[in-house]
Amino acid sequence: MSSSNARNSRYNILFEPIKIGPVTMKNRFYQVPHCNGMGYARPQSLAAMRGIKAEGGWGAICTEEVEIHPSSEISPSIEGRLWDKSDIPAHRLMTAAVQEHDALAGIELVHNGFHAPNRTSRLPPMAPSPIPVDSYDPVHARAMDLTDIKNFRKWHRQAALNAREAGYDIVYVYAGHCMTTLMHFMLERFNHRSDNYGGSLKNRVRLTREVISDVKEAIGDDCAVAFRFAVDELMGKDGMTSEGEAQEVVGLLAELPDLWDVNISGWSHDSSTARFEPIEGYQEKYTSFVKSLTSKPVVGVGRFTSPDAMVSQIKRGVLDLIGAARPSIADPFLPNKIAQGRIDEIRECIGCNICVSGDNLSVPIRCTQNPTMGEEWRRKWHPEKIAPKASDSSVLVVGAGPSGLEAALQLANRGYQVTLAESGKELGGRATKESHLPSLSSYARVRDYRVNLLTQMANVEIYKDSPLDEDAILEFGFPHVLLATGSHWRRDGTGRYYQKAIPGLSTIPSFTPDDIMNGKNPTGHTIIFDDDHYYMGGVLAEKLINGGQKVTLVTPAAKISAWCEYTLEQEKIQAKLINLGVELITNHTVSNVAANQIELSCTYTGHTKTIQVDNLLLVTARHANDTLYHQLQSNPDKLEQAGIKTLEVIGDAYSPGSLASAVYYGHLAARCLEGESWDTALFDGERPGLIS
Ligand code: ADP
Ligand code: SF4
Repeated sequence: MSSSNARNSRYNILFEPIKIGPVTMKNRFYQVPHCNGMGYARPQSLAAMRGIKAEGGWGAICTEEVEIHPSSEISPSIEGRLWDKSDIPAHRLMTAAVQEHDALAGIELVHNGFHAPNRTSRLPPMAPSPIPVDSYDPVHARAMDLTDIKNFRKWHRQAALNAREAGYDIVYVYAGHCMTTLMHFMLERFNHRSDNYGGSLKNRVRLTREVISDVKEAIGDDCAVAFRFAVDELMGKDGMTSEGEAQEVVGLLAELPDLWDVNISGWSHDSSTARFEPIEGYQEKYTSFVKSLTSKPVVGVGRFTSPDAMVSQIKRGVLDLIGAARPSIADPFLPNKIAQGRIDEIRECIGCNICVSGDNLSVPIRCTQNPTMGEEWRRKWHPEKIAPKASDSSVLVVGAGPSGLEAALQLANRGYQVTLAESGKELGGRATKESHLPSLSSYARVRDYRVNLLTQMANVEIYKDSPLDEDAILEFGFPHVLLATGSHWRRDGTGRYYQKAIPGLSTIPSFTPDDIMNGKNPTGHTIIFDDDHYYMGGVLAEKLINGGQKVTLVTPAAKISAWCEYTLEQEKIQAKLINLGVELITNHTVSNVAANQIELSCTYTGHTKTIQVDNLLLVTARHANDTLYHQLQSNPDKLEQAGIKTLEVIGDAYSPGSLASAVYYGHLAARCLEGESWDTALFDGERPGLIS
């Protein structure tokens, strides 16, 4: 699929072996623990996904958090479990898949403390001091007494022994993300104890010291013991800070673990989207002190996708190992591509957190950039391999948005002769347009990765400025035609809340997101009616207010950009809009428009109020651009006469959705052309309990 070049010698440092306690990593590419929505329920999917990353060159591959005991379970979320020996066979699938490629397998053992409402086990949660659990469940965590602490240490030790038996090379003790008992003990705001485990920082760190020591004593001769620690919570003096207590913690434990895995907390800061942390290496300012206080290797993250940034981290003494979750999801073969001098083939993470949404929704992980993510086992998809073409037929792809580009790339990888026709002057469709919106520039990577490869392929022809209609497509007579003609935003206000047009729209200047992205600029006071609930409404509010306009955002939801909760962005978006001065009106709809008067209705009571505005921007729903498809499809005789054997509509033109789904369906269509069946594996999921 791609050629191998020599590795640039300036990246040699990334491929040096690193000793971590009793084990040695073959290079410095370290996949830190990351959730994936597969966990204990889908061990074969999990093992296949981790194994592919090992094949792609990562020197160490870790699990997600793995519960050590049923008093720490966060169902319905699906994390890992190592409650007892019956869980070991499932873990062996993962360690075997990883070690087959000479990578180390790491396991992140966790006890979730008051972060675990224990909805399934119904055991009372535990904490250093009494406190309600951190979800809204009507459940309190009770204070751990000395017997609980003894048991906790015993569970952790036993889990470490079980982890060794399962074949792990690296075993974690975890105090991060404000989600773990050990971190709860460390933090003064949660630990009000007056015994040896409370009060001074030394006392609050005592349990962590004991657990690391227990684990080292139990398995330290065979496995490396890693300590994951959140050095800053980004909440000032009320929490852990990298300038304050975190330095003392690292000082107190400096040489105890074999590896320091350091990051920031909570999860939304650690896995910040590009919209809020656009720069690679964004955690450096918090984590860089750690190396000065320990001689043990340090790993950290920062959405690293460029080898120069990685080398710089090491040379400047910030990190020893380049940690990655999302970059390894977007490109499981990132290390091999650097090793083989194929830097421009790296599929760079765009920082959108669609991957995180899978975990938050308790479904298998997916990725905008890497459509094979999560499909390694059930569809047997490989990110770098695809079945060769089944015939010498040529293919026409109409539309060069995310879906058309991905389909064209994979068809070309299969060896088909591909013609890609795009009506616009630019390639990339909505990825290009949206990348010009505030803080979304990384979305252009969806285009850039694909266009870069396509333009180098001899079996691909790309035509811009080439709108194709029914006659042109019939005249060309390509045997296979894929229509990736996208979608457009609706103008009538219909969507989730209204299934018929909002009355009076013709009496006011009204706009859609397409208008704004195409350069229209409403002036004065604009109401944005957001019934879409993903990022578009909030991003447009930002754009308009940054342009000096007055903006009111109205949504029927209780929160702004409500779906962004799953991408860990919702709170940040709402805070940003408030700080920018956008007026936010939740639980309301735009029910009527008359001249410059807009009537808003409360979604609970139906009570109305009227406000004066100049414009209305409707962010409600999208319409598939499927007219061309229906014209062609409605006349099978014409298709046959033209020699068109298959006609497919893909991506947003088939069914508008996320960028991730447009790419996914482009990929699927390419695999299925004269090949796989669309519904293969869809319902052939794993059956929990088959592994024992
Ligand atoms: P998706 O997300 O499904 O890829 P996009 O809306 O991002 O959809 O991209 C669709 C692309 O198809 C746009 O760049 C658009 O200009 C192009 N397009 C739409 N209709 C035609 C057509 N008839 N001929 C050529 N290109 C088209
Ligand atoms: Fe990166 Fe988005 Fe893929 Fe997650 S889903 S790895 S953030 S591109």
